[in-house]
Amino acid sequence: MHELFIDGEWKEASDGNHRRINCPADGALVAEVSEATPDDATAAVRAARRAFDTGLWALTPATDRAMLLSQVADRLQQEKETVARLEALDTGRIIAETRIDVDDVTAVFRYYSTLAAADAGRIVDTGMPDVVSKVVYEPIGVCSLITPWNYPLLQTSWKVAPALAAGNSFVLKPSELTPSTAIWLLATLEELGLPAGVGNLILGAGGRVGPPLTESPEVDLVSFTGGLVTGRSIAASAAPTVKKVALELGGKNPNVVFADADFEAAVDGAMNAVFYTSGEVCSAGTRLIIEESIHDEFVAELVKRTEAIKIGGPFDENAETGPLISAAHRDKVEKYVDAGIAEGAKLLVGGRRPEGEKYANGYYYLPTILDGCSTEMSCVQDESFGPVITVETFSGHTRDEAESEALRIANDTVYGLAGAVWSQDGGRGERVAARLRHGTIWINDFGPYVPGAEWGGFKQSGVGRELGQQGLDEYRETKHIWRNTRPAPTHWFGAENEGGQL
Ligand code: NAD
Repeated sequence: MHELFIDGEWKEASDGNHRRINCPADGALVAEVSEATPDDATAAVRAARRAFDTGLWALTPATDRAMLLSQVADRLQQEKETVARLEALDTGRIIAETRIDVDDVTAVFRYYSTLAAADAGRIVDTGMPDVVSKVVYEPIGVCSLITPWNYPLLQTSWKVAPALAAGNSFVLKPSELTPSTAIWLLATLEELGLPAGVGNLILGAGGRVGPPLTESPEVDLVSFTGGLVTGRSIAASAAPTVKKVALELGGKNPNVVFADADFEAAVDGAMNAVFYTSGEVCSAGTRLIIEESIHDEFVAELVKRTEAIKIGGPFDENAETGPLISAAHRDKVEKYVDAGIAEGAKLLVGGRRPEGEKYANGYYYLPTILDGCSTEMSCVQDESFGPVITVETFSGHTRDEAESEALRIANDTVYGLAGAVWSQDGGRGERVAARLRHGTIWINDFGPYVPGAEWGGFKQSGVGRELGQQGLDEYRETKHIWRNTRPAPTHWFGAENEGGQL
């Protein structure tokens, strides 16, 4: 049984309830964890508040904070197989993928370790010799960190690493479906000496334990990654206390392929964009937007390769991708595909569950391609978060017309998380990238990221940025300190006005 971590102690939920975590690949029991109550969440916030207000971590030298992050990175590498297994069992993803995740998480902790002590602030020239004016960065305070079930530890690292680097205290609330690697992380931080109360862990259903984490006046920042609807309700619940809110929400990401693209690379990229990790990726390139002249050849090749994709559980060595996270999520993907077909999309491949004994107890769904789509269809506008490509086409009599049409289609979404353009014309790649209204753009690629480059959404894909320098700045307040080294009366009041002050 795994417990909650509050104020440096592992504790049962206050009402003794717990939850069973089952592997989405076969339903096997993976873990049993405490299911927190709202009172537990409030206790965790109070512990984080106390820890912050006593300066336990905020006043720890930045070099020591950096050292702890670097030690977490070392542990991740030492325990790579253990962590990759935990993640694979919770999510059902194939272990080859979750091993890559552990390396990515390691890189995030290393990156913020180097930033922790890099920038203490700056001196501002006031033009007054007796005044020292400095701008300094301080931790923002108590942070509620709420994460989703896809890439559980990676999404957590994007929040925990910069929060600790900046000197904050936090309460982490991972998805109730995938808590195991968050438990590992908090246990590791405890072993490495993070002071009690600085890092707290609340497990449980978001609708129940979320509100104390977002509404409390004792919380200074909420950083949330998840769906758009939840994001809206979190922003509303945080509004009365005017706390800072960072939101990483969904995406409906265009993958624009021009006829002059490298065909082989673009087909391969279009497959990786959606079918990697069963499409359960916020930045998945679910919208293939392809120049009409190569549509038939490109889509035929895509169908051929999609039919050959091998599906299986975390430890199936032949599997190239795994199941979906839950029965409820698979139902959602099925309804989404059915709606697309009802609206006129043509099903080319997939569109059903795989058959066979090995799939019987898992939430599998076949990689699916819907052709003949257009922007007014729900399957083009709504996030499926599954292994589904919708195909739209564009054309134009001139080069400019084709680019404008591709852009019109690609930007016709409330989301703005990520997108790609494929073309061997370097100028075209740059032109289209500049006008795509999305937070990350790949030219002749799809999917990679680095911890040093900011990640986040335009439009309803979110507010704020994770990763990069801005990913640290989200967790800091900026303060201006003005020091008059030679104080003297100004004589504004009751004397001749000799100068102004604010
Ligand atoms: P979700 O919104 O259902 O849940 C996310 C988290 O919020 C979970 O921990 C959940 O328990 C919690 N939660 C739910 N209701 C809450 C409430 N009222 N108050 C506080 N917390 C609450 O999302 P999900 O289904 O877990 O994840 C999938 C979604 O996440 C997709 O829409 C995906 O696009 C998005 N996502 C975005 C990014 C990004 O970087 N932009 C990354 C990964 C996932």
